[in-house]
Amino acid sequence: MIDSTEMVKKVFTQKSGRVDTNRGDEYYNSLFENAKNRLSTLREQEPLKDIDMMDVIESEGVNRRDFMKWVSATTATLMLPPMFAPLVAEATELMNRVPVIWLELQDCAGNTEALLRSSAPTVDDLLFDVLSLEFHHALMAGAGHDAEHQLDEAMEHFKDNYLLFVEGSIPMGMNGNYGTIGPSGETFHDHLQRISKHAAAVVAVGTCATFGGVPAASPNPTGAVGVMDIVKGKPIINIPACPANPANMVGVVLHYILTGQVPELDSLLRPKFAFGYRIHDNCERRAHFDAGEFVEEWGDVGAQNNWCLYKVGCKGPMTFNNCSIIRYNEGTNWPIGAGHGCIGCSEPDFWDKYAYQRPMASANIKAPTGGVEKTVDEFGLGLLTATTVGIGVHAVASAVAGKKSGEEGEDK
Ligand code: SF4
Ligand code: SF4
Repeated sequence: MIDSTEMVKKVFTQKSGRVDTNRGDEYYNSLFENAKNRLSTLREQEPLKDIDMMDVIESEGVNRRDFMKWVSATTATLMLPPMFAPLVAEATELMNRVPVIWLELQDCAGNTEALLRSSAPTVDDLLFDVLSLEFHHALMAGAGHDAEHQLDEAMEHFKDNYLLFVEGSIPMGMNGNYGTIGPSGETFHDHLQRISKHAAAVVAVGTCATFGGVPAASPNPTGAVGVMDIVKGKPIINIPACPANPANMVGVVLHYILTGQVPELDSLLRPKFAFGYRIHDNCERRAHFDAGEFVEEWGDVGAQNNWCLYKVGCKGPMTFNNCSIIRYNEGTNWPIGAGHGCIGCSEPDFWDKYAYQRPMASANIKAPTGGVEKTVDEFGLGLLTATTVGIGVHAVASAVAGKKSGEEGEDK
């Protein structure tokens, strides 16, 4: 079992919690040459799926110009300089060279649903048509022994080369018997161990697969845990959130195609390009936080004017994710844009620790002294130390800071 308190502490204290957005010419030039060589090697391989990315894009009415706009945005999301854009475009066309096996374990299938429910698909969504999905519990037509046979064949054929995507947690209670699968009644635990053994890397998708998610919420009746508690000796990439954003899944696959390696990860195994900064860092309501303008209760003047949701429970200051930038539903909106505070869905134990709709003032969170920004940076640690000083103190201090702009130390 993960000690999530320790892990969260580590994230807030580690230096690598910040993203290094410029790693110097030498690094990028060498990465560029490696990526170019890797793409030419992949191009020589037989496509595993006879679907051409550009055909799919055109048939869905996405023109070349829009595709190139997506390529630039994705290159930036991956924190690569613009010179990588042509390589990112080429990598999308080579996605049909990478075999993927997708397992569905203890969850609501929300991550798969998020991919399927797209009404006006983005390029991110379309890429899943091109990806060589060799097996997917929820999407495949076969069942029973046929399905098992297909899985065995895919594992044998692509031994040590396939990416294993896992959605859902693994129940460990009752000897794993809360979750069994297939005609042989294999437990989720054994199923995952068997299939991960010959994967090139394991990608845990969604908060259930990464940290146990909602099934692991107290009292965790099935003993649910995440993939990293079970799979050892393999590269693991965690893409938490409820659901995980398709753009981040695509980002991980593109990075793998470009470099043959997993992206740089934080101590919770999340790719730094997506989870290296907080919701709060890029939130559209941030100016109101800095000005001390808060929604005090739902429907009040603050709510009507889109002020900061901090005092009605927003957990953006301690949540690492890029949803404030890439958003959901074809990029149209995200929870805070729609007027609901962040519930910290991409953090361990989020349901027990963060998701309550309680105002911060009642959460017993320490408000460290210092400038407003410093206070927010230390916010997560304050949550963990849970002293008696309410975060309401900070909110009040922010308001004062807003009124006395220019003065220093006003929130002490
Ligand atoms: S507290 Fe929440 S709503 Fe307010 S600025 Fe931060 S992330 Fe945005
Ligand atoms: S805003 Fe917060 S709760 Fe909503 S998706 Fe992003 S991380 Fe999850």
